[in-house]
Amino acid sequence: MTIFNLGSINADLFYRVPHLPGPGETLAATAFSRGLGGKGANMSVAAARAAARCVHVGAVGADGRWAVERLTEYGVDTRHIVTLDEATGHAIIAVDEGGENAIILHPGANRALSETHLAAALAEARDGDTFLFQNETNMQREGAERASARGMRVAYAAAPFDAAAVQSVLPLLDLLVLNAVEAAQLQAATGLAPEALPVRDVVVTLGAEGCRWHNTDSGESRDFPAPKVEPVDTTGAGDTFTGYLLAGLDRGMPMPQAISQAIRAAAIMVTRQGTADVIPDLKDVQDLSL
Ligand code: AMP
Repeated sequence: MTIFNLGSINADLFYRVPHLPGPGETLAATAFSRGLGGKGANMSVAAARAAARCVHVGAVGADGRWAVERLTEYGVDTRHIVTLDEATGHAIIAVDEGGENAIILHPGANRALSETHLAAALAEARDGDTFLFQNETNMQREGAERASARGMRVAYAAAPFDAAAVQSVLPLLDLLVLNAVEAAQLQAATGLAPEALPVRDVVVTLGAEGCRWHNTDSGESRDFPAPKVEPVDTTGAGDTFTGYLLAGLDRGMPMPQAISQAIRAAAIMVTRQGTADVIPDLKDVQDLSL
């Protein structure tokens, strides 16, 4: 089967600075690096590393061809990434000597997707394929509607959180992935605890505590502890978790097995510095002796 991931592609531009700049200040960076990021790209890479067939549906600007090339290198199907007359989505991340950061995020091409583009990508989908999306692009509701009508598994990672966006797609979802903060925000907005949401499977990630799975068919909730690791950088852990989870389900694993694999992949991810470029592959996950 195939995962169609409607998702963001960002250039993460890291600048090491002596201190965070103030108003009117011009500051020379002492180091610079560029990484591939965006929740969507991270999840596509994680799904591909987990040996799933993943078609990324997204957009970059003319300055983002390197990101598409890198996704291709990582095994993601990039035929449905279009190049638009917009800037590639990017994050300007300044990090000072104390590790404090300040970030400017520009969504650019990620929010300029068209319904025609989406329709062309989803025209390839078959019954039982997966449609995955997050909240860093436009066309989410249109995508969920089309996917649902095509008999796809509709999965949403509700990040960055937007109460109105979640509520607008809730009835279309088969699977919702939230972190603990997002689950609390959703409960504040709807009055519904995760186990009471009208979605068959809800997975709430709980950082070092692992995650909790609620299944409305059985009415059961189940906890999955995370392996104990020394965290170095938790960026991308949630995206790795979701990509691996969907890949496992897409490859026919029962939910508990897919969650166990996702938790192991995310645990490795928190021991690594970086985002899409360092997502572990299936062999790393299988070799993890924790
Ligand atoms: P979060 O978005 O913080 O809930 O993290 C997503 C997933 O990453 C969790 O469900 C865990 O599987 C994993 N994770 C995050 N932080 C840690 C940690 N300190 N140790 C082990 N696993 C972690």
